[in-house]
Amino acid sequence: ITILGLESSCDDTAAAVVRLTDGAPVILSSVVEGQTALHADFGGVVPEIAARAHAEQIDHCVERALAEAGVALTDLDAVAVTAGPGLIGGVLAGVMCAKAISVAAGLPLIGVNHLAGHALTPRLTDGLSFPFLMLLVSGGHCQFLLVRGVEDFTRLGGTIDDAPGEAFDKTAKLLGLPQPGGPSVEAEAATGDATRFAFPRPLLDRPGVDLSFSGLKTALLRARDSVVAEKGGLTRQDRADLCAGFQAAVVEVLAAKSARALDLYLQERPRAPAFAVAGGVAANRAIRAGLEGVARDRGVRFLAPPLALCTDNAAMIAWAGIERFRLGLRDGLDLPARPRWPLDRQSAPMLGAGK
Ligand code: ATP
Ligand code: FE
Repeated sequence: ITILGLESSCDDTAAAVVRLTDGAPVILSSVVEGQTALHADFGGVVPEIAARAHAEQIDHCVERALAEAGVALTDLDAVAVTAGPGLIGGVLAGVMCAKAISVAAGLPLIGVNHLAGHALTPRLTDGLSFPFLMLLVSGGHCQFLLVRGVEDFTRLGGTIDDAPGEAFDKTAKLLGLPQPGGPSVEAEAATGDATRFAFPRPLLDRPGVDLSFSGLKTALLRARDSVVAEKGGLTRQDRADLCAGFQAAVVEVLAAKSARALDLYLQERPRAPAFAVAGGVAANRAIRAGLEGVARDRGVRFLAPPLALCTDNAAMIAWAGIERFRLGLRDGLDLPARPRWPLDRQSAPMLGAGK
């Protein structure tokens, strides 16, 4: 099975070709064209600019992905595309492009949930079998999922306000560091003293696996302003210490809640328990290390995709397309672009989440 995948739900335009031979997937190509420079002056992604850039870039992206993979449209079995959730203009650009390819080349069309793309990534990278526990932690989301099948996601809990990626991006903005904030804050944190400023550990004292990150933003803003009030500005070291304190709080909260989620999941007695993390924030080394420790303590296998497959990419969409294709799942030309599209069909599961 060879599938072309398209991704355009946020600020990266991406196309990839993934092939499955004898049960082993190979990423033949994975092209990501970012838009960081286009949004740099605005301190965040501007939806209208993103939508136009996707529409302009996507054909070129597809051509590159096919050329780098060395395949023609006639070698493909289907075209898969992110059909949501995300910025609607971008999602539409991808969906329209995929429909055009589907019609022109006579290929089946497969709509993929972007979050399913992230969540199924450990099956692409490590052949992980169901069920597994997943922490999906990205620019727009943060949730614990019990993944039992290609379409079987149960949400155990998640953030009640911001996503961690958003908090990293906001932190960078408040400190005058470049976007996307995650990598810049991580780099600064490396030389910082995490104990100098006090950051809260939101919801840690409450049972359950829900998380909160908006308080960290406020704490950062306050700490920054107190330093500025005292000294008239921030030194390089102040910035590093603020980043380190913020990141340490995120790591601790994610690790503590992962421990609880793992304990809930282990009550199900899975035969080969596994805990996987995915999404852009999973690229953070301190977070990966914190989560790995939690899994190790419980004798649970831990998986984190390579960095390039944590942040948005189309290989994960092509792979989710292969997963759906093998199950006979196809979409028609009426496939809608959806700004919102929760992964789980049933929330409030039987696992006693929230208790
Ligand atoms: P979603 O997947 O929820 O729709 P998205 O697609 O915009 O959102 P991703 O591309 O999965 O999000 O992740 C992007 C986010 O990951 C950004 O907020 C970015 O700051 C964050 N991120 C990337 N690298 C790192 C890192 N090293 N440390 C922390 N955060 C990071
Ligand atoms: Fe994403």
